[in-house]
Amino acid sequence: MKDERDTPLVFSLSLVLLKMPLSEFTVIQRFFTRQRITHSTTRLGIGDDCALLSIPQGFELAITTDTMVENVHFFAGADPELLGHKLLAVNLSDLAAMGAQPVSVTLALTLPKIDDNWLTAFSQGFFRLAERYSVDLIGGDTTSGPLTLTVQALGLVPKGRALLRSSAKPGDFIYMTGALGDAGLGLKIKQGYACADPDAALTRFNRPDPQVEAGLALNGIATACIDLSDGLAGDLAHILEQSQVGACLDWDVLPLSNAVLSYITDTGDWSMPLTAGDDYELCFTVSPEQAGKLTIAATKIGVIESQPGLRLRKSGIIQPLEVKGFEHFS
Ligand code: ADP
Ligand code: MG
Repeated sequence: MKDERDTPLVFSLSLVLLKMPLSEFTVIQRFFTRQRITHSTTRLGIGDDCALLSIPQGFELAITTDTMVENVHFFAGADPELLGHKLLAVNLSDLAAMGAQPVSVTLALTLPKIDDNWLTAFSQGFFRLAERYSVDLIGGDTTSGPLTLTVQALGLVPKGRALLRSSAKPGDFIYMTGALGDAGLGLKIKQGYACADPDAALTRFNRPDPQVEAGLALNGIATACIDLSDGLAGDLAHILEQSQVGACLDWDVLPLSNAVLSYITDTGDWSMPLTAGDDYELCFTVSPEQAGKLTIAATKIGVIESQPGLRLRKSGIIQPLEVKGFEHFS
C-alpha cells in the first residue's frame, strides 16, 4: 500500500524548493546570458572558465575597469535601471577617451540578496546600452556581500594610435565635447538644491552618454585625451602632469548651460562646473595644424602652455586654478 505521507512530503518539499532563493547560477542564466553574440572578436562568451577573444591584426586591446559602490558612488535605493546604464557608460567612457572601439565587457556583481525586480531593471539598463554599441557581455562573477558593481570593458584601437594622456604639447588647443557642470548640478539637485528646470541636469547625472563616436573620430587627430569623470580641473591636471606641460583655460568660452549659469548667479559658486565630476564628456588637445580636421562638435576652452600648472583667465585676470577632483581615501 502506498504510504499516505508520500504526497504531503513531496508537496512540502516542492514548496521549500519554490521558496528557495535563486542561486548565482540561475541569476547568471536568467539575467545575464544572452544567446546572441554580436561582436566578431567574441570567440567564446559566458559559460566556461574564461571567455575567448580574437584580436584582429593591426589592433591593440584597450582594457579598463570601473567599480561603483553603494553609498560611495550612488545613494542606497538608487534606481537599478539607471545603475545598469551608468555602470556600463562610465566604462565605455574610458574606452572612448583612448579612442577605442568597445567590443566586450565582463560584469562582477556583489549583491546583498537576490532581488528579482532589481536584477530585471538593472540588466535592462545594462543591456540597452550594450546593444547600442554591439558590446557583448562575455563573463563575470556573482557573489554575495555589500552592493558593489564592477565592469571591465575591452576595446580595440589601431596599433600605436591610442589617445594617451602623455602627449599634449605646448601650443595645442584644448577642447571639450558637450557642456560642463550639468551632472554636477544634477548632484546638487539630488542633495536638495532647488532648480527651476531640474530635468536636463538630473538626466545628465543619472544617465551619462559615453562619447564613443567622438573618441573614435579623434583617433589620429587629438594629441591627448581624457574623459571628464572627476571634474575638468582635476582631470585636465592628469594630462598636464603626464605630458609635463601647463595650461590656461578661458572662463568666457566654457560651454555652460543656462541651468548651470543660473546656479552660479544664485549661489556664487562659480567653480562648481570646473570641479564637479560625472559629466563624462571628452577633454582633448589638438595641435593648431590639425584643428581644421576636427569633425566632431567640440568647444575650444583653452591652450596648452610650457609653464607648468593650470590657470584660468576670468574677467581679464589670469589666476592659478588649484582645485582637485574627487579622491578616495582623502
Ligand atoms: P568560475 O567558478 O569558474 O569562476 P562562475 O561560476 O563564477 O565560474 O561563473 C560561471 C560562468 O558565468 C563564467 O563563464 C562566468 O564568466 C560567468 N558569469 C558569472 N557571473 C556573471 C555575471 N554577473 N555576468 C556575466 N557572466 C557571469
Ligand atoms: Mg567565478
